[in-house]
Amino acid sequence: MNEQQTLIGRTIYLPQMSYGATRCVAAAFRSVGLDAEPAPDSDAETLELGSRFTSGDECLPERITLGDFLKIVNRPQFDPKKAAFFMPTSGGPCRFGQYEGYIEKVMRQLGYADVMIFSPSSKNAYQGIGDSTFTRTAWRAFVVSDLLQKLLLKTRPYETRRGDTREVYEQSLRAVCEALSVRSDHGERMKRLIEVMTKARDRFRAVPVNRSEKRPLIGIVGEIFCRHHFFSNENLIERLEEHGGEGWISDLCEWILYTASQERHNLVRIGQRLSKAMLKNRITNWVQRHDEHQLRKPLHEDLKGYEEPSTIEELLQYSEPYLPPRGSLGEMVLNVGKTVYLHKKGAHGIIDISPFTCMNGIICEAIYPHVSRDLDGLPIRTFYFDGVAGDLDRDLGIFVELARNYQRKKRVA
Ligand code: SF4
Repeated sequence: MNEQQTLIGRTIYLPQMSYGATRCVAAAFRSVGLDAEPAPDSDAETLELGSRFTSGDECLPERITLGDFLKIVNRPQFDPKKAAFFMPTSGGPCRFGQYEGYIEKVMRQLGYADVMIFSPSSKNAYQGIGDSTFTRTAWRAFVVSDLLQKLLLKTRPYETRRGDTREVYEQSLRAVCEALSVRSDHGERMKRLIEVMTKARDRFRAVPVNRSEKRPLIGIVGEIFCRHHFFSNENLIERLEEHGGEGWISDLCEWILYTASQERHNLVRIGQRLSKAMLKNRITNWVQRHDEHQLRKPLHEDLKGYEEPSTIEELLQYSEPYLPPRGSLGEMVLNVGKTVYLHKKGAHGIIDISPFTCMNGIICEAIYPHVSRDLDGLPIRTFYFDGVAGDLDRDLGIFVELARNYQRKKRVA
């Protein structure tokens, strides 16, 4: 029995790492007949429940995801035999690899040994997530949610009536989820998705905006969960916009492409350059890039200047002088490489969002002064989060001012 079959009859709860992507991936699960929904929104109760089973040594995302799962467990109608908690894992150098095992242990302690922890791994580029029908739809789910997020972030700071862009975003997200969840072949689904994305583009174009003042563009990098999870990062991007900035967040597809690139590298390292696994990896990569290209096509004009690197290797190259990407692994490499890339695309500042004590964040923070020096003093700052509110507005205000100065300097240079 494969993992997808053992999920039949269960509701898969997905941690809301990213608001849009979680909804899109849940729709992708529904397209293969599985029941899936986002875990509840995080709030003070999430932290309270998560803290009961954590000591403070764990990273914030662990406390948040565990807390949200415990909210589900506490529902009066909860049946462990009918639930699966989605918790991907990674063999990387940080604590992420421990989450799945720890959540399982807590569930056992609470008497819910029957609950399933569904845990695909980055070691094989998340192939355990399901059959190829599902994985292709899931990839498309990530692509469209990243694209909608891009449209949201490049439009909202300039809207003339507060809330218009969010409304359009929500409307478009619902339409995309509907298109993803329908059972159909890949060709038919792609046709529908392109139609839906074209309509979304037109809706975003119709939002009244005022672009007379060019805001400083701030690249957002950092730990993948915390940078995408509004509650964990105290809604940093919207607050950055209130201070006059425009955010460009590193998207989720970047991580998926990175894990595939790492898999290729590891296969070469163990002498499997010409192997079935390598062939599978390369075909998957080709199909994914093809799908991405198709879905991005209707937005070509709208996202001019906001293109992501053409290959993940381009990012890794930018990281090379600071953190050799085949020696140091994971998000730190992407964050440093992306900082250089975003500077080339016109960013006036970089914010790294990291959970407090995150190893990736700490290493990047040590490297950033060197990167900044090489990029004419580009403002780069790490913002740490641990679930306790600090004075984020004060710090963002100062940061945006630094970015504005850099923007002025760039204009006269
Ligand atoms: S990346 Fe950072 S926050 Fe995430 S699991 Fe690793 S150490 Fe923890």
